[in-house]
Parts: sequence; C-alpha cells; structure tokens
Amino acid sequence: RNKTDKKVKIAVAQGDGIGPEIMDATLKILEAAGANIEANFIELGEQVYLSGNTSGITTEAWETINNAKIILKAPVTTPQGKGYKSLNVTLRKSLGLFANVRPVTALYPYVKTNFPNMDVVIVRENEEDLYAGIEHQQTDDVVQCLKLITRPGCERIIRYAFEYARAFGRKKVTCMIKDNIMKLTDGLFHKVFLQIAAEYPDIINESQIIDIGAAHLAAHPERYDVIVTSNLYGDIISDIAAEIAGSVGMAGSSNIGKNIAMFEAIHGSAPDIAGQNIANPSGLLNAAINMLAYIGQPKIADIVKNAWLTTLEEGYHTADIFNNKFSIKKVSTSEFATAVIERIGETP
Ligand code: ATP
Ligand code: MG
Repeated sequence: RNKTDKKVKIAVAQGDGIGPEIMDATLKILEAAGANIEANFIELGEQVYLSGNTSGITTEAWETINNAKIILKAPVTTPQGKGYKSLNVTLRKSLGLFANVRPVTALYPYVKTNFPNMDVVIVRENEEDLYAGIEHQQTDDVVQCLKLITRPGCERIIRYAFEYARAFGRKKVTCMIKDNIMKLTDGLFHKVFLQIAAEYPDIINESQIIDIGAAHLAAHPERYDVIVTSNLYGDIISDIAAEIAGSVGMAGSSNIGKNIAMFEAIHGSAPDIAGQNIANPSGLLNAAINMLAYIGQPKIADIVKNAWLTTLEEGYHTADIFNNKFSIKKVSTSEFATAVIERIGETP
C-alpha cells in the first residue's frame, strides 16, 4: 500500500469481561498485518453504566462514532437490574444498523465439528421485533412485550439477504418464520420474502417454520446457505450455528447501516472466563477481517485470514477448541495472537 494513504479512523470499544483481552489480541494482529487504520478508543459499557449513565455510552463516544462511521466493538456487559438499557440494542437502533450478518463456516478437520461441510450465513434483522424492547407492566401479574414488524423493515433486510447471496455467489436463501401462529407479524415477513424472492429467479428460495428450521439447522447445517430471519430468531439460531461449527468464540458479525457499520464477535462478554487470558479472540478477529474488506483493504483482510487459518491448522488452539487430534498446543489469548502474527506474510 501507499504509505501516504490516509489512515481510516475506526471507533474502537474495548468492552467488558473478556472484551479487553480479545480486543488487544485483535488490534496487535491488525497492526502487524499493516492495516491502514487509526484506532479511536471510545468509552462505553459497564463502567459508564455504573457511573450513573443508564445509557452506558458517553457523549464523546457518540461524537467519535459519528465522525469515524466505522466501529470495532468488543462485547459489553449490561449490569443486572432495572433501568439499564442494552447498549447493543441502543447502538443498533440509534445508528440504523438494520442488518446483522453472521457467517459461520466449519474449519474441519482442524476445528472439531460434526458438520464438515457447514457454510452458512445468517442475515438477522437488527432493529425490530421483540428486540425493540418495548415492554409494559399491565398489572402486578401481567407483563407485555410488543413485537413490532414493519413492511419497510422486512423489505430492507430481505433484499439485503438476496443481494448478499448474489454478491457472494450463494445459491439459496431460506426464510425462517412462525407465521402459522403469528399470522400478522411473521406473516408480513413471509409475504414480503415471497415478493422479493420473485425478483431473484437466479437464487433458490425456501421458507421454514422457525422451530423445525432450527432443529434442521442443528442436525443438517450443510443444507443451508443464506438464512434470513427476524431479530430474536436470528439471535438464537446464530448461537446454535456457531456452537455446532466448533465454538461460539469463532464467529464474527457485521452490523450494516446506511452510512455506519459496526463489527463485533457474536458472543457476549463471557464474565465466567474474563481476566484469565484464555478466551478465543477468533470471533472478534473475524469481525475485524470483514471490517477490513468493508473499508477497502481486502488484501490486508486476506493476509490476516490466511495467517489465522494457518495458526488453527498448525494446532494452536485456545481452550474452547482444544479438543481434537489437531489440537497440538493449548494457547492463551495472547499466545494465539503471537502465533497468528508469526504467520503473517507466510504464503499459504
Ligand atoms: P449475551 O447475552 O451477551 O449474548 P450470553 O449469555 O450469550 O451473553 P456469552 O457471554 O456469549 O453468553 O458466553 C456464553 C459462554 O460461551 C461463556 O460462558 C463462555 O464460557 C463461552 N464463550 C463465549 N465467548 C467465548 C470466547 N471468545 N472464547 C471462549 N469461550 C467463550
Ligand atoms: Mg448470546
């Protein structure tokens, strides 16, 4: 690359729990690969909540985000108890990040899985559905959560899924809904799916009821290609997909909006293993790889991806995937990062 190229500003949130450990590993790898980025650290998450700011994010952080328009974010913890709004939901809604794209690919035989040929992309609607968090206390004993589905919201996410399929040479889009029960809300999602699918005759479309769809996904994930679904269903099936491919610690996601995009691991802050330097940084690293492609640095993205794959193939595995005959060296988070860095620039 041209050394005089202007560095791309990225708003970086180090997060809570295992967040700082996996972010540190990821940033070191990006730097070693020559990513042309400038990290602008932002404050959000647990400390901000506990300081009395119930939104969990500072005004300065918003300014940095609106200025950079690209966010690399480690997982954050929402404190237990009333009054704290989920920062993930706030960010996705405030920034209009309507599509949550979660690719999950098996790395068989190096990473243990029952599904060697699994290669699925879950396209999850990111702003509507029960996740809007509109809840009411009706009486002392009755509570309510509003499921909000709009036609423009359905159109945007479903079109995105078909465009994604076309752009990445994928052959099929599966819609998962529960419209036999929720005839209006999921019914609308399904109706819009069928309308938009008709505009893409080159791509196979199918629809499944979410419960049996999730069951089939868990038993035969290789039958799926792109899956498009609403917010809550998408959350659940992407954890299933990542876990059966090897570990929830492996998958990254892109949150795509009109002018702003946010890249993060699909997993949470895993407080049970925080501070031990044992978490798998691969999910956040994969998110960062997608970020590099998104900001126009696909060559650096490939360099990082190849070094990461080589590291896994050579058996450097963190504890969550240290479980098969290809697991040769059990490494910590930071040792894994060092192993990836050592493999940067090696021709695959
Ligand atoms: P959230 O509601 O924020 O999605 P969650 O309840 O789904 O959180 P996670 O924080 O995602 O929970 O973690 C679930 C479990 O998966 C953790 O207890 C941890 O053991 C494991 N885990 C998650 N991420 C990783 C990782 N990067 N490396 C290793 N193990 C992980
Ligand atoms: Mg989760």
